[in-house]
Order: sequence, then structure tokens, then C-alpha cells
Amino acid sequence: MRLSQMLFVTLRDDPADAEIPSHKLLLRAGYIRRIGSGIYAYLPLMWRVLQKVSQIVREEMNATGAQECLLPQLQPSELWQESGRWDTYTKAEGIMFSLVDRREQQLGLGPTHEEVITTVARDMIRSYRQLPVHLYQLQTKFRDEIRPRFGLMRGREFIMKDGYSFHADEESLKKTYQDMYTAYSNMLRRSGLAFRAVEADSGAIGGSGSTEFMVLADAGEDEVLYTEDGKYAANVEKAVSLPAAAETSPFTTYEKRETPGTDTIEKLCNFLKCSPTQIVKNVLYQTVYDNGLTVLVLINIRSDQEINEVKLQNELTKLAPQFGAKTILTLTVPNAEAQETWQAKSLPLGYIAPDLSDDYIAGSKQVNSQFVRLLDQTAVELKNFVTGANESGFHVVGANWGEQFKLPTLTVDIRKAKLGDRSLHNPEQTLQTARGIEAGHIFQLGTKYSEAMGATYTNEQGEEKPLVMGCYGVGVSRLAQSAVEQSYDKDGIIWPVAIAPYHAIITIPNIKDAQQIAVAEKLYTELNKAGVETLLDDRDERAGVKFKDADLIGIPFRIVTGRAIANGQVEVVKRANRESQEIAIEEVVNTLQQWVKDAITG
Ligand code: ATP
Ligand code: MG
Repeated sequence: MRLSQMLFVTLRDDPADAEIPSHKLLLRAGYIRRIGSGIYAYLPLMWRVLQKVSQIVREEMNATGAQECLLPQLQPSELWQESGRWDTYTKAEGIMFSLVDRREQQLGLGPTHEEVITTVARDMIRSYRQLPVHLYQLQTKFRDEIRPRFGLMRGREFIMKDGYSFHADEESLKKTYQDMYTAYSNMLRRSGLAFRAVEADSGAIGGSGSTEFMVLADAGEDEVLYTEDGKYAANVEKAVSLPAAAETSPFTTYEKRETPGTDTIEKLCNFLKCSPTQIVKNVLYQTVYDNGLTVLVLINIRSDQEINEVKLQNELTKLAPQFGAKTILTLTVPNAEAQETWQAKSLPLGYIAPDLSDDYIAGSKQVNSQFVRLLDQTAVELKNFVTGANESGFHVVGANWGEQFKLPTLTVDIRKAKLGDRSLHNPEQTLQTARGIEAGHIFQLGTKYSEAMGATYTNEQGEEKPLVMGCYGVGVSRLAQSAVEQSYDKDGIIWPVAIAPYHAIITIPNIKDAQQIAVAEKLYTELNKAGVETLLDDRDERAGVKFKDADLIGIPFRIVTGRAIANGQVEVVKRANRESQEIAIEEVVNTLQQWVKDAITG
């Protein structure tokens, strides 16, 4: 491609609405244009990058025996009614764009395709002999994200590869899951990215596990906890660890103490001269289930620990059937205004005890009249602890479960693991932290969708069983941008060779020099013929402008047909390290071919 014929516009300054380096650079270098909130045009250079990533994804998927297909983006609401997700996706979470057609039929624009693929499987899979089978597609997805941002990182329209596998049993699912683990690792490695595979939260239903593939970058929205020995890595939402050991409590006898002005843990520790590991803190949450019922939750946890709201939400989702509900709509710490709507009398905030009575709740049709009481593991083991006295300005010390306080029946792990905690697999290893961009997520779904939608097969014994499913997603457009987030300098993008839009760019410093043009044209033709994808900067611009643009767009190798041609040579510069050398004109094609090959297979 000749730059003189391209729609090639670069910007000198950072665009105002871009926050992170990769977003700024893709805009400045003319890869993308913003059309609306979370909506971007992929310009020709970007489209080449996206096609390269897609090709790597295809090759890795096909190598596992998965088959490519293309499913509809317009999805009838009936399918989502069957799976039970229509209301959550269009109303509660509101992530799905929905519309009504001219015949008054409701449709959604596909944010994901479990419903569509399960209906295909329901119609077409009859027998165990057809299993396992795995279909995937590369397609634009639509999601009405609450906070679209960072360019292609969190768009409302973006490209995803999503795949769905069907199995007769868990064992077969686990094998495909393992194959996907390898395929995803290969995709990221081949795209030139530094990444970490981490244990991920799979919500309340997917107990069987999921893995996220995190591209490591400071701008990442996710936090990853890992150990140096490489044996443990998890998203903070899911991570487990050993908390620091609790100190022995100095309070050997139970008594109520006046503790004025100690409504925070820090003030209380100062006042009583004790460690936060000797205190049970009691935290209130408020959740609304999908049937409209508000439930108040009282959590007891060791006071040096924080609550992990993802784990909490999973526990509360498990309890949904108990309240005649399926799922949770909201989970919040009730503020004064929210408390007004249900409290029967003024709460002893800052001084709540584990036995806070249900009398504080004015129960109604809309509000459950009892607290759900959850005890975190860290609080179970405490002896002679300090906690609130249900009276403003008072605490109790030397308390014990089974004596002054009844042990709540639900013991759970809802604490947040954090940097410096000891690891479970080896307490000598402490957790380290890193930021990550979630590029892919593989998931053992089990029978959630097949059961809801009646997708069954007949096993060898002739029994009808629900299909066991897995699903696997990789964000093609997010992955492409995260490569830039991982690789740039003050002058611009530094593409990994495997996904760069072009391998090389030939810069003609002086467009008035016929000899320079002749050498450039010859190399341009020969390089492209030899499979070295090459751009020709034949614009009538100053050499400095051309060099700046070449750096900004991040093409791995730059060939300059400058003064050296007098000696039968050209200057070749590597974008990544700026290493420059003069190479004989007739050696250029072979050398570049070899460099590209080494970079892509290396
Ligand atoms: P996130 O937690 O970042 O919202 P997700 O859990 O919703 O991601 P999945 O539903 O598992 O993501 O989708 C599979 C992949 O699609 C993700 O791993 C990510 O790479 C990509 N992806 C998801 N949402 C977006 C988005 N709004 N813009 C770009 N890529 C996305
Ligand atoms: Mg999401």
C-alpha cells in the first residue's frame, strides 16, 4: 500500500477524551475514529491488525477440532425468556440492547450467544454419538455497558470470538476446557503479549471453574493476585489466602465497656489498646432479589479484613430459592436514606453486635423481617473477642461464640484476599499483586442452559440427559488494543510483528530524487512479493514528518532509501529498539523475510 493513496491522517496532540496510552495512540495514529460513546470505526490499519488477531484465533481454534460458524446478532426475546435471562439482561443489568420490530416482536442484539447455540443444539443433537462438538464464531457483539471507556477496551460494539462446546459428561467437558486453556495461551503468546492465566469467579452457578487470561498492564481494570513460585494466580474477585494470624486477646473476662466516640475500628483499637485481629466487626448489607424482595444481611468478620462483594453476592445468590427468587438485582451497603425505608428503630451504627435483633426491621411484603446472618471464617476462630454492644458508645470485650453470642449457622468465606497474605498452597509464599486486562475467559458451564431450555441427548443406555456445556470467549478488539497498552514509547506504538498491520515501511526521504524513488519502488514490489507486507511512504512530505509518522504507527521495520544508496545500501531501523544498520539493497528482501519469520515463530 502507498501512503499517498491511503486515508492517512495522524494527529500531533493527544485527543481530549482518551485517558490511557493505547487509546490515545490508536486515535492519534489513525487506527480508529470515535463515532459515538463506545462506538468506533476500525480504519484500514486497525482492520488489518484485527484480521491478524482473528487469523491467529482461527488457527488455534481449528487446531483443537472446533468448527467456525456464524450465528445471528438479532435474537428473538423468546429464547432469552426460556433461559430466564431476558429481564436481567434488558432491565436489571440492562446490558442488552433490545428493540421491537414492525410486527411488535421483541428482539435483542446479541451480547453473547448461549441461547442461540443451545436452541441449535436442542434441535440438532440427538445422540451421544454426535458428541462432543464445538462451534465458534468471530463476530461483532453489542453490550450497553454502563461505562464504555478506553476505546476498544470497553466498547458497546466490539469483536469477540465466542465458542460453545457440548458434551455427554463432565469428563469430556474438562478435556475440551484443557484444550481451550492451551489454545488461549497460544493465541496470546503468538500475539506477542505478556499474560497470566488466573482462576476466575464464575458466579453462583458455575462451581466447576473458569479461567481468565489477563494481559498484564497498569491500565488493566482487574487486579490479579499471584505467588512468585507460579503455582497460584487468581482474580482478586475469586482469590483465597490465609489471613494474618490473630493476636491473642488480652480480655479474659467478659464485660461491657463504655467506649465513647469509637464508631470506627481504628478509634476502637486506639481506645482499647487492642489489635483489629481481636475484634469482630458487624457489617450491614442490603440486597434486592429479582422478585422485588429486600433482604437485610448482617455479616460478622474479623475487623482487619475486608468483605469481597463478589463472594458475598455468590453466597446470597445461593440463598435465592429460599426467598422464592432466582437471582439478585442489587447489593449495597444501605445508606441513611435506604435505612429509612425499613428500619423499625434507630440502628446502633458503629456499635452493632452479632446478635442485633430482627426487631430493627419493619418487615413487610417488600422487606424480609429477619436478617440473613453470615459469619466469615475469620471470625469463627476468635476467642475472647471485642465487638459492639448494640448501644451507642459501648462495646463488649472477652466475648465468645456459644457463650454470649450464638454462632450463626452460615459460615462462609467472604473475605477479600490481599497483597502480602500467605498462600494456601504454601504459606511461605505471599500474594503479589498485578493489574490485568481480561482478554479471554473460558468457562465450564455445565447444564445451566441445556436444562433451562430442554437441550438433551440420549446416552448409550438410552436415557435422556441434559447436554453438558462449556463456553469460551476472547475479545479480539480488546486484545488488539491491549497489545498497544503493553508496547509503546514516547514516539508511538511498537506492534508485535505477528499482529502489526504491516511488517515494514519504506520511507523515501526526498520524493524529488529519482534514484531514491527507483530503489524504493523496486524494494516495495519485491518485499510484498516475498510476503513481507510493506508500506511505501511516497508522500510529498519532509523526511522528518515521515519518520515521525512511521514511529507513531509502529511498523516494526523501517527502510530508508537515503544517502546510503550511493553505496548500494539502504538504512534499516528496528522500531522496537531503534537499532539501525545499513544493508546492501540486494540483501534487503532476504534479511527482512528472515526477521519477520524469526519474530513470528520465535
Ligand atoms: P468484563 O468483565 O471486562 O466486562 P466480561 O466478563 O463481561 O468482561 P465475557 O462475557 O466473558 O466478558 O466476554 C469474553 C471476552 O470479551 C472478554 O474476556 C473480553 O476480552 C471481551 N469483552 C467483554 N466485554 C467487552 C467490551 N465491552 N468491549 C470489548 N471487549 C469486551
Ligand atoms: Mg462485562
